[in-house]
Amino acid sequence: MTDSFTPPADPQAAIATYRNLNLVGGRHVPVSASLDVLNPATGAVLGQAAASTASETDAAVQAAKAAGPAWAAIPARERGKAVAAGGRALLAHFEIVAQVLARETGKAIRTECRGEVKTSADILEFYGGLGSELKGETIPFNPRMLTMTTREPLGVVAAILPWNVPLVLMMLKIAPALVAGNTVVVKASEEAPFATYLAAEILMQHLPDGVLNVINGTGADCGAALTSHADVAKITFTGSEAVGETVYKSGAERIVPVSLELGGKSPMIVCDDASLEKSVAGAISGMRFTRQGQSCTASSRIYVHESLYDAFLAALRAELDTLKIGDPLDEATDIGTIINAKQAAVVAGYVAQAEATPGATVIRCGAVPEGTELSPDLFALPTLLLDLPEDHPCVQNEIFGPVAVIQKWSDYEDVIKRANDSRYGLAATVWTENLSRALDATSRLNAGYVQVNQNLTIQPNVSYGGFGRSGLGKEASLEAMLAHFTRSKTIVIAMD
Ligand code: NAD
Repeated sequence: MTDSFTPPADPQAAIATYRNLNLVGGRHVPVSASLDVLNPATGAVLGQAAASTASETDAAVQAAKAAGPAWAAIPARERGKAVAAGGRALLAHFEIVAQVLARETGKAIRTECRGEVKTSADILEFYGGLGSELKGETIPFNPRMLTMTTREPLGVVAAILPWNVPLVLMMLKIAPALVAGNTVVVKASEEAPFATYLAAEILMQHLPDGVLNVINGTGADCGAALTSHADVAKITFTGSEAVGETVYKSGAERIVPVSLELGGKSPMIVCDDASLEKSVAGAISGMRFTRQGQSCTASSRIYVHESLYDAFLAALRAELDTLKIGDPLDEATDIGTIINAKQAAVVAGYVAQAEATPGATVIRCGAVPEGTELSPDLFALPTLLLDLPEDHPCVQNEIFGPVAVIQKWSDYEDVIKRANDSRYGLAATVWTENLSRALDATSRLNAGYVQVNQNLTIQPNVSYGGFGRSGLGKEASLEAMLAHFTRSKTIVIAMD
């Protein structure tokens, strides 16, 4: 543990620091092959990141395994203090981390990246205070037998990250895992690995060597080698539904616990008595338009009561038209780029399907930036899809772009049914001033995170996780740490 690391002040230099290496055992460990990481806003190569092989992945797991017993032997509160100190260090360096994040994800520095780093630091601080909450129970089994449970760490945790909010999602995994006494191997997203490395290296200054390790590579090579590794005791994954299934199967083969945070198609129900102003603002924040809609929680199915529909649509369009789409590094920019050409083609494909649907209407808002060196293909306009049948792919599937489906409703029972007609169950919101209706809707909506008259993002101390094909298990909160990063041992002591 040292406190000597100062990140480079220049984002490009910070990115170059992590050229072709992993962070293993507290050191920079070169690997044999690399992959290019592109700046989505320009299309230029931003840097080279590790393309780890199975044996390079194994080296990280071995480092984590070796560090495990000594880390687990440190009192829980002391582990928590180290994690919290890492959070404060991250906050102290938030600007450089945010600058790297904006370059690799295409997310706007002002509206997205700085906030993401600050939330990441907050998650570390939050979990850092929970060391002494790793409590067991005493059980009144028999007066002559002291019966209790204790909480133990699981061992080496594999944490697999996506590209859309890599830092927040990393901290939601590693902070509870570390405080609970586990050691961790993070598999960064190959689309956006550098901010993950930089944030981890800042945090590692406060942790013993090998407790936190970061590797990068493709899912097929590095990811699969990690999830199938015999010494990994727990897998925590955030990503797509399809890869989530593969990861779950890999855990099942070895009977290790798996947490999955997958996709969503979250409904937002606007009732006839809702505040127009609040619900329109909630649609913009909930749909995560400033993140190009690249959010699993996005309120991407918006059901508006027929009496408000026209006014809601007009106000939403007017607000979306004011958002500036452009260079993620420009302080004036609200909306940056889609992560890559493949994802941009997926988004465009869904919009084309809506356009080809008889009776449907497609509304594009805002304007693509012109006359710059930016790559115009990756700037997707905020798009509203109207009058689609409920079984349309755009209504049923996660698009993961700035595309919201707006549906009209008149009958409350019918809209609850339509809202629940989804294979997903991640989040839902309802907008009404009627308390009875709000309570009724919250009890009937089939989603793990239901809000009324607001559309908050993930909070460190509030459990978050989906039902159905949105995933398994919870993240954030004490509940998530106890349920997913510890095991419970029952001890019965005869007193006679
Ligand atoms: P992805 O599933 O393609 O990749 C996620 C991670 O899994 C990457 O690090 C990738 O390298 C790795 N991976 C790929 N194949 C693997 C394999 N066979 N074994 C092990 N690891 C493998 O997802 P993505 O495109 O990076 O992220 C977007 C997806 O993530 C969206 O579908 C979105 O809904 C989901 N997401 C969910 C949440 C949530 O909390 N529910 C949050 C953010 C993103």
